[in-house]
Amino acid sequence: MTDPNTVPSEADWESAPSLVDGAMELQLTAETCDLQYWLRSVPQGTLRGQVLGHAEDSRPLSVVAEPGPLNSALTQELAFRSIAEEKATRAISYLVALAPDNPSLEFYATQLLDEARHAMVFRSHLLELGIGAADLWPSIERLAGEDSRRILVPLEEFGLRALRDQRDFIGGVVILTVLVEGVLAPSAELSERKWRVLDPGASEVERGAGIDEIRHLTVGSSIAREYLLAHPEEKPRILELIQEGYALWEKLPSNELVLRREELFQQGLEQHAGLVGDYEIWPGRRLVDTTAQERAETAHEWSTRMQRTRMVYMGLEEAL
Ligand code: FE
Ligand code: FE
Repeated sequence: MTDPNTVPSEADWESAPSLVDGAMELQLTAETCDLQYWLRSVPQGTLRGQVLGHAEDSRPLSVVAEPGPLNSALTQELAFRSIAEEKATRAISYLVALAPDNPSLEFYATQLLDEARHAMVFRSHLLELGIGAADLWPSIERLAGEDSRRILVPLEEFGLRALRDQRDFIGGVVILTVLVEGVLAPSAELSERKWRVLDPGASEVERGAGIDEIRHLTVGSSIAREYLLAHPEEKPRILELIQEGYALWEKLPSNELVLRREELFQQGLEQHAGLVGDYEIWPGRRLVDTTAQERAETAHEWSTRMQRTRMVYMGLEEAL
């Protein structure tokens, strides 16, 4: 029997892989990732008891905490992400309600709490970037309300049509795993890497969310895979749903959003290159030498690679 207090290495702060590597290489199931696993892994493991998702002394550099392009880039991103995580939390409540068995019920109950936590830590990090507590919610609307209506609301409606209107558990699992998390996840890894020096707290918050995301992506894929193996007659319907989701995704201005964020970051990076020094965003590539376009394309490339691997695993490669 596993020692109830041992933190699994994929959830351990030091030994967990990166999000992109973990989501491509690990195979976790709902049976493994039950409530006991989560209690060992997350509060005692990934979070190490740090309620706000980062060490007490990890503070943003003043060029990030004060008004300027770096502050705008990060506050816009965190506001957008906090809305996305809140929407995910609410949508997952349907997965909990519709869960066909206890392993998937326990797993989605933990994912619901993970996403609510992500919303909370992204939101609370805004307070460290000069936003006053009384002004927090209006600021989130000002920073990301419009982007949310253009990108997140259409995705949410698509998900709710399956989950709330059709009570389609597996359709909801696939939409969440393939479209929402699978596509948004790589920007989290990019964020963790690019803020590491300028705002180590933000980077740690992203790292923690990324470790959770490995579990969400791998378990979601395994639930879909096992379901499709047991119900091959459902495959055409699921493929159609994915294709419909991809067609919707194509119409959303998400690349434009990522690029706008990277361009703000670039302005700040050029102004404060000295602070970043020789820090490498990925092996062999100094952050100061990258461009907005290059960072956006790299995240996009990770996303495509991750998608491909997971779709093959689920037996849904025809949708690619
Ligand atoms: Fe999340
Ligand atoms: Fe997630």
